[in-house]
Amino acid sequence: MIVMKFGGTSVGGVEAIRQVVEIVAKYREHDTVVVLSAMSKVTDALRDMAAQACEGTEPTASLSALRKRHDETIRALADGEERKQALEVCAGLIDELSGILHGITLLRELSPRSVDLVSSFGERLSVVVVSAALRSAGLSSLPVDAREYVKTNERYTEAEVNFAETDRRLSAGLAPMVSGGQIPIVTGFIGSTDEGVTTTLGRGASDYTASLVASALQAEEVWIWTDVDGAMTADPRIVEDARVLKEISYLEASEMSYFGAKVLHPMTMLPAVKQEIPIRIRNTFRTEHGGTLITSRTRSAPLGVKAVTSIDRLCLIMVEGTNLSRTPDTHARLFKTTADRKTQVVMITQASSEHDICLVVGEGDSPGTVKALKEEFRHEVAEGSLEEISVQSDLAVVAVVGGGMKGTPGIAARTFGILGEHGINIIAIAQGSSELNISFIIGRDDLRKTVQLVHASFGLGGDGDFEHD
Ligand code: ADP
Ligand code: ASP
Ligand code: MG
Repeated sequence: MIVMKFGGTSVGGVEAIRQVVEIVAKYREHDTVVVLSAMSKVTDALRDMAAQACEGTEPTASLSALRKRHDETIRALADGEERKQALEVCAGLIDELSGILHGITLLRELSPRSVDLVSSFGERLSVVVVSAALRSAGLSSLPVDAREYVKTNERYTEAEVNFAETDRRLSAGLAPMVSGGQIPIVTGFIGSTDEGVTTTLGRGASDYTASLVASALQAEEVWIWTDVDGAMTADPRIVEDARVLKEISYLEASEMSYFGAKVLHPMTMLPAVKQEIPIRIRNTFRTEHGGTLITSRTRSAPLGVKAVTSIDRLCLIMVEGTNLSRTPDTHARLFKTTADRKTQVVMITQASSEHDICLVVGEGDSPGTVKALKEEFRHEVAEGSLEEISVQSDLAVVAVVGGGMKGTPGIAARTFGILGEHGINIIAIAQGSSELNISFIIGRDDLRKTVQLVHASFGLGGDGDFEHD
């Protein structure tokens, strides 16, 4: 069995969905489960609608644009009874959404729980559209709402999956559909709590849904169909001559995605690793390209480095004090504070003098985290054993990633040398003990130039000597 996930651009319009139908038809000899994202930009649009409603204005224009886009796509791709049914289901969903938005407008209140409910409509709509298109092309398929199968906790917008229960439900629910000759078309991204309240697994998490499904059904492979040829040596929007990596390991893929390679959600590897299910990244619009294969073992790049990735819009929170080394519980309290408010700490650095500890967090997480830390350490700050907690914003992290970096000397020297030559200031540095990456903080204005320079210095670009095959 193959689990195929199609991203937003791949289901973004009539032509793209025709491609999807062609791909599913082409691999029909395999048992197939399809996992879908919302049509491109729909999740953003839904969130904007919810925000607008919360301001007190009903987003009528956006809602009718959403209805029109899905209706027109169905009309172009499905006919007869399939068309009629799909149009009805979509109309029902849009009416339900309209009612929820109306409620938000009246209450002028938007909780993360409501954001998740509103966001869920993108995937719930796209599975209806694509399933109708597949059926009209003679492929027996049915839309599946993952909320029945993917069970999570109540951490709205970034819900954590209950693996055992999800595994059990997915295999009990989907296996009979597949053995009955159907192709389940599953909503990515969404799940529900034990009480049945809608949750989402985080932005870009349809990839993660695909590997959850693959693991539950013990699939042979997961194919992530997207709008680029594969995982690349750098974000192609930043580095023009970035190249496709033919093979990377689960660990390399995890590091790359954790440090900003948007092509895969960082959690995707977790369910796949356990059963060693290979993941392939492929281009929906260039099916002839072999893409990237992700497995447990791959060859190293000559210089150890395979990719340069980055995350923009970060802040550095500094906790400083001469007494830091003599108060070991400071660390415990610090991380308890960030854990309690579920701050995602991107990076941690501590000077060996133990005079300061720095946390790197996203721009959105920063104000709340700083407030919580100030509250936690108010006595220490008042009595002077800690300095006032400070923040530096407008930062970015760049990560140099590769399994072969372990035991290859000189990578840090090469990286920092080139940045020094170009006058780029490095604010903090971290290296995991696995030696799979070196990551460092710079000003966000230096982001593009830094990624380009480091990428070129390791010969990763189109004219470099790093052959991937
Ligand atoms: P989908 O909607 O198919 O899930 P995404 O937009 O989430 O697609 O991810 C694909 C995009 O990720 C590409 O269009 C590319 O711009 C971006 N990207 C960032 N870094 C990388 C990288 N290292 N390799 C490939 N793509 C990357
Ligand atoms: N539609 C969701 C998002 O935009 C999930 C996904 O695309 O994977 O974040
Ligand atoms: Mg994605």
